[in-house]
Amino acid sequence: MEESGKRYYNALLPVPKGGIYTYSSDGSHRTGERVVVPLGRREITGIITEECEKPEFQCRDILMSYDEEPLFTPKWLEFIKKLAEYYCVPIGLALHGVISDKLLNLENARAFDKKIVPKKEIELTDVQKEIAAKIETDRFSRHLIYGITGSGKTEVYLEAAKRVIAEGGQAIYIVPEISLTPQLTERIAGRFGYMPPVFHSKMDLKSRETAFLSFARGETDFLIGARSALFVPAKKPGIIIVDEEHEPGFKQEEAPPYHLRDMAVLYASILNIPVVMGSATPSAESVYNVRAGKYILHKMPERPKNAALPDIEIIDVKNCDMIEGVISEPLYDRLSETVRKGEQAILFLNRKGYSTSIFCKKCGEPVMCANCSVGLVYFKSKNVCSCRYCGTDYRRLSCAACGGNELTEWGAGTEKVAEFMESMFPGKVLRIDTENASTVNRLSSALKAFEKKEAQILVGTQLVAKGLHFPSVTLVGVLGIDNMLAMPDFRASERAYQLLVQVSGRAGREELKGRVYIQTAAPDNPVLRFVETGDAEAFYEYELARREAAGFPPYMKMARLLITHRDAAKCREAAKAVAKAIKDEAGGVSVLGPADADIFKVKNRHRVSILLKSAANGALNRAIETADAAFEKLKCGSMLLKTDKDPYFMN
Ligand code: ADP
Ligand code: ZN
Repeated sequence: MEESGKRYYNALLPVPKGGIYTYSSDGSHRTGERVVVPLGRREITGIITEECEKPEFQCRDILMSYDEEPLFTPKWLEFIKKLAEYYCVPIGLALHGVISDKLLNLENARAFDKKIVPKKEIELTDVQKEIAAKIETDRFSRHLIYGITGSGKTEVYLEAAKRVIAEGGQAIYIVPEISLTPQLTERIAGRFGYMPPVFHSKMDLKSRETAFLSFARGETDFLIGARSALFVPAKKPGIIIVDEEHEPGFKQEEAPPYHLRDMAVLYASILNIPVVMGSATPSAESVYNVRAGKYILHKMPERPKNAALPDIEIIDVKNCDMIEGVISEPLYDRLSETVRKGEQAILFLNRKGYSTSIFCKKCGEPVMCANCSVGLVYFKSKNVCSCRYCGTDYRRLSCAACGGNELTEWGAGTEKVAEFMESMFPGKVLRIDTENASTVNRLSSALKAFEKKEAQILVGTQLVAKGLHFPSVTLVGVLGIDNMLAMPDFRASERAYQLLVQVSGRAGREELKGRVYIQTAAPDNPVLRFVETGDAEAFYEYELARREAAGFPPYMKMARLLITHRDAAKCREAAKAVAKAIKDEAGGVSVLGPADADIFKVKNRHRVSILLKSAANGALNRAIETADAAFEKLKCGSMLLKTDKDPYFMN
């Protein structure tokens, strides 16, 4: 029988393969509307992408619709499509990765409760006003604010956002480390006169739902959040802000593996709105994009209260007396003086735990995780040894090589440094790392305690290196950076440089003069020299020249294929065949490897990687497609291929 009056629609579904399916309906639907549809034996929620012709095949009916007014915009759908194309992943997988099932099925949420707070306005400097005005007039551009730590970038973002909001637009403000937002949200509240809506995956579900739905419906005009906030479908988006655009945390590792900054730029160009990126230590990519004329550069080389940048000194640990192998005498002396004067200090190292490695006393072999090819870290407070890759805790250990059960530890993590400092400066030490400040609340109360000067010496990891503002901190000591400099990764120099400049920027942020000591066994490393002299131009010159000569991004496009399986031999064999298929069938790319990954085993899966490089994005995409097809044919059992375009972590 002829089905009269039926209409046909394509819907995007959050599924791992494919993504677009056709359904029929007696009613009418609009692009961006959320619908529940049958898929196999399941019912699933998707988004209408468009009305279409009656297909050849029999199709099933849309079961119900969630929205009278579409929640998603056509431009949002275009964004997801382009994201999927760029990263060579199925569009269904992209949708699944950027919007959780819960939010996709959200019908109602509490209204946003606008908590009014006293307004704390400040008078912007001329530089700040000028940049905000340029952003307002250069409507469709990409802006990079390159301003030293504490130069007042945040105030520019807020001013630019206010101007957009005043004209009826919405502002999305993305920050890398959501755990640092308590300080920031309070400041924003002061400027706006109310507590701004926040969106990230670690907050409670009810507030997250409220933030999502009220922004999507255009009831709120500002949203601050982590990566995931970019994908909240704004109703009338007017500006996207990406703070600390250089942050490695902007790279998402789970599928789809995307880079937040790049996606913000893509989304803004689809929307025809400005994107504002800012950093004290821009990524090499962004500096390159400025040179290529793709981003407009705004410089903020000074601090508003004219606080001077700190003096930086490199300490060669091979040539000076070290106390307990942890802290050099000059740094110790300066630390005592700081404490005596009632000022504060931050001691930074990028290793948490007590000792950084554990060895067998008898045969000297390092003690490794049973599931991963990495050494264990000892945590004294919990009295366990843990694997930083799979999280397994070991309470009783013996040497896998000789069976010996007398073990010894080596190296100092934050726990040991804090313990040692406590013995020298009793009652004055506070430690902050992801082990003891594992939740936003715990971190925030630890930071508050330091702010209130309940401690004078803060020992911490990356968590304390960035974004924080403590006026009484006059001394920063970097105890461990060498392991980072030595990492076999083409971005190792850049990361070390950024981290050192950022952590140095914690010292002397107001009237008091700041001092920074960097302890190292490699004092001649050029990166340390650039940090010491504060010559950023020279650093970027050096870094970009090096990348160009070696054919690394941003001069070449790159992708990493990672094949994983329990069986090492099968893994290597599959990788070889995939590499061969690429070499035989895809042109215009160079294929490096396959090679065993630096960390060959994680959670009992072996990992073999292939690196692809190309000057052309299209050629790289074809190579990835070739690899996918070849892998589908030869994979066995639970073997997986992970495709990572523009990879950031190569271990
Ligand atoms: P950045 O984001 O570049 O690190 P911030 O915007 O956090 O810099 O500013 C650093 C400090 O200077 C903050 O305490 C901020 O309140 C203050 N500040 C910024 N702009 C001004 C201004 N125009 N007048 C007074 N203080 C300012
Ligand atoms: Zn492990």
